[in-house]
Amino acid sequence: MERLARAARVGVLALQGDFARHQASLEACGADAVRVAWPRDLDGLDALVLPGGESTTMLRLIGANGLREPLERWIGGRPTLGTCAGLILLGRGARGLPAPTFEVLDVEVERNAYGRQIDSFSTAVPVPALEGGPFQAVFIRAPRIRRVGPGVEVLARIGPEAVAVRRGNLLGLCFHPELTPDLRLHRFFLEVVAGLVLPGSAVAAPGTGEGP
Ligand code: GLN
Repeated sequence: MERLARAARVGVLALQGDFARHQASLEACGADAVRVAWPRDLDGLDALVLPGGESTTMLRLIGANGLREPLERWIGGRPTLGTCAGLILLGRGARGLPAPTFEVLDVEVERNAYGRQIDSFSTAVPVPALEGGPFQAVFIRAPRIRRVGPGVEVLARIGPEAVAVRRGNLLGLCFHPELTPDLRLHRFFLEVVAGLVLPGSAVAAPGTGEGP
C-alpha cells in the first residue's frame, strides 16, 4: 500500500463498547477517526477498528443495522484492528454467539477464558515490535487465543500464549490499548495502514515474553 499523504481515515465500529476511547486514541495519533454504525459509514475509510465490548451484542447490532455483508466485504483484505470483543469477531471458534464471526484471522479464540477470579487485570506485556519497553495491557473479561494458525504472526505473548497477533494488515489484541495513555499500538496499527511495517518484521520469537 502507498504511504498516505494525508491523515488516515479510520472508522471505529460504534454500535456498543469502547469505541469513544479508541476514537480519542486514534485522534491523538493524528488520524481522522470516525464512527461507523451504518453501511454508508464505511465509505472512504482507510482502516477500521472493532472495539472491545460484548461480542454477542455487537453481532446482534451488526445484523440489525445491515452491516453484516458490508463488513464482510470490507474486512476481507483491508486494514482492521480488533481488540478484545473485536478480536473475537475477527477470529474463529468462539462459542455462545448469535451469529458466526468473520473468521478472517486464523486464530482459535475462547471467550471469557481467563477465569472468574481474574476477570480483569493489567500486566506489562513485552511487545518486541514496539520500542520503549513493555506495554501495560488491560484485560477485561478477555478472550484467550488457544491456537494460532500458520501465517499468523505473534506480536506478544504472556508465557507461551499469544495475546497480540497479526496477519498482513489485520491485527488482533486480547487486551484494551485504548484504556491506557500509551499510544504505541495505535501508532503501530496506523503504520501498518500506511504500509510502513511489513509483515514478518515484528515477530516475537516463541518463548519470549515470559509472563507474570
Ligand atoms: N467478554 C467479552 C465478549 O465475550 C469481551 C470483553 C471485552 O471486550 N472487554 O465479547
